[in-house]
Amino acid sequence: MCGIVGYIGTKKASPILINGLIRLEYRGYDSAGISTIEKENLSLMKDKGRVKNLYNLPGIDDLEGTIGIAHTRWATHGKPSKENSHPHMDNSNTFSAVHNGIIENYNELRKFLGDNGYTFYSQTDTEVIPNLVHYYYSKDTNNDDLKFLRAVKSACSDFKGSFAIEIICKDYPDNMIVVRKDSPLVIGKGDEENFISSDIPAILSFTRDFYLLDDLEFTVLSRNDAKFYDINLNQIDKKTKTIEWDAASSEKNGFDDYMLKEIYEQPTAIRETIGAKLNENSKCEFDELNFTKEYLENINKIYIVACGTAMHAGLVGKNVIEKLCKIQTEVDIASEFRYRDPIIDDKTLCIFISQSGETADTIAALKLSKEKGAKTIAVSNVIGSSITREADYSVYTHAGPEIAVASTKAYTSQVMLLVILAIYFAETLYINEDKIKELKKDILELPKKLEETLKISENIKEFAKKVYQETDIFFLGRGIDETVAREASLKLKEISYIHSESYAAGELKHGPIALIENGITVVSIMTDSKLVEKTVSNVQEVISRGAKTIVVTNQNIDDTMFEKVIHIPTTNSFISPILSIIPLQLFSYYISKEKGLDVDKPRNLAKSVTVE
Ligand code: GLU
Repeated sequence: MCGIVGYIGTKKASPILINGLIRLEYRGYDSAGISTIEKENLSLMKDKGRVKNLYNLPGIDDLEGTIGIAHTRWATHGKPSKENSHPHMDNSNTFSAVHNGIIENYNELRKFLGDNGYTFYSQTDTEVIPNLVHYYYSKDTNNDDLKFLRAVKSACSDFKGSFAIEIICKDYPDNMIVVRKDSPLVIGKGDEENFISSDIPAILSFTRDFYLLDDLEFTVLSRNDAKFYDINLNQIDKKTKTIEWDAASSEKNGFDDYMLKEIYEQPTAIRETIGAKLNENSKCEFDELNFTKEYLENINKIYIVACGTAMHAGLVGKNVIEKLCKIQTEVDIASEFRYRDPIIDDKTLCIFISQSGETADTIAALKLSKEKGAKTIAVSNVIGSSITREADYSVYTHAGPEIAVASTKAYTSQVMLLVILAIYFAETLYINEDKIKELKKDILELPKKLEETLKISENIKEFAKKVYQETDIFFLGRGIDETVAREASLKLKEISYIHSESYAAGELKHGPIALIENGITVVSIMTDSKLVEKTVSNVQEVISRGAKTIVVTNQNIDDTMFEKVIHIPTTNSFISPILSIIPLQLFSYYISKEKGLDVDKPRNLAKSVTVE
């Protein structure tokens, strides 16, 4: 799940490439490198570590080439090292390539190439790419304009797995070839120049006109042109799409970190998610969906499939869909779902959630559901992302670019969108009209209540300072609050590296309470009036074993029992996670800051998980 950048034009490529990589560092950051064409030879500069290390490489400033490729890596095959970092060149130094994804049959291809005299210097799967391209290139006796393309196409036909590839060839100093399959890559069209990137924001300051590539569309780029070919090398027509986003919305806006900025953007993000879809006096509208009452009545089951935080949003979705629409709903982790032979037929509706829209496991699960005949809906934040192009229907969260690796506004906007989707289903089914009326009112008040919650939650900083050195923290909740406990615990793990666990509060005494000892911190969430007393009793059980307790609640509880209580505004329990997660996002944030960690780029994690 790396970041790829490319440039072909009239300017010196290397500064543009490094700049682009810095903006893509959230996708991977264990090593970085660039390769340019310099007077018909290929340059190669790469190193372990952050992109900024490239500035220290001797000779980097002397690169004059106006064509180049670049990569920031998140290793899948072979440790982070200079040898394993991209770009990779073939044995004869004719081709240089960068790759995002995994070539699953690389061992087989390595052996084949080895038998044909090729040698390898790295442990990566990627190194087979330039060598296999060279293999086909050297066998082709027709020295025409398309020889480079034919070789790339032949190599790609042998690859199993996922890839986004940029490749340059010293014999074609005016061209670059790019192709993708199940991995993201876009082309930005400029004036006498073309830009390539794994995502749109990284090159938005250069252009707003983009070609969005479909799987196995081979693109031959030159300074003034982009030619597209299908797998049979027939030329195809492609139009650019103009992107309206504001490049400034990807910047930090005065906040110390992207994560903090994104936490504070949640009122706006939720307003955007609600958009024109929901108002008090008419039915919810999704331009993208055209479901009938008859179709929804015949659904046998809804699956919500996602990974990590998006899966936690799915759990909130299950609660509201089951209660409001009376349709049985199951939530699955994408990496498990696809291998457990789920029972799906043409009466099943499957919803897939992915912030980036590039999550490999979620895309694979979607493809499986489609094969089995289900209707599929993608929930994503990124327009034109892979998942939205695979699904029958796509609905967007419109939360704006999320840069911090730990998701905050994407989570709350996913929850919001699933709730609105549930209302749309219920309204189409003509059920629960009174409940919906009330819920809509509460949703429209939510952005204001979010602003209030952000203000109230600031004082969690003091508590974070008290506990930041701890090694284990527990999160408890019942019902909908249990799903928030899971998300809060994940957030803490991701950015503070503190070991944390979340449990359904009632489950504690069935085992985990054995871990509670004097001084341990237990965080609990209590927003459901029907369950609050039960949760209070469970928290009492840990207090009597010496735990320090912090409570997030919108209920009237006896504050004196607990070390700290954060009172958040009351709202409908279907949407309470959007408020109750706020102090807990800030809790994780301040603990991470207190520990002096890199909040936006936590170790071992990447923003967009495009490998399985
Ligand atoms: N599989 C390749 C490697 O390990 C690419 C990983 C990536 O997407 O960064 O080098």
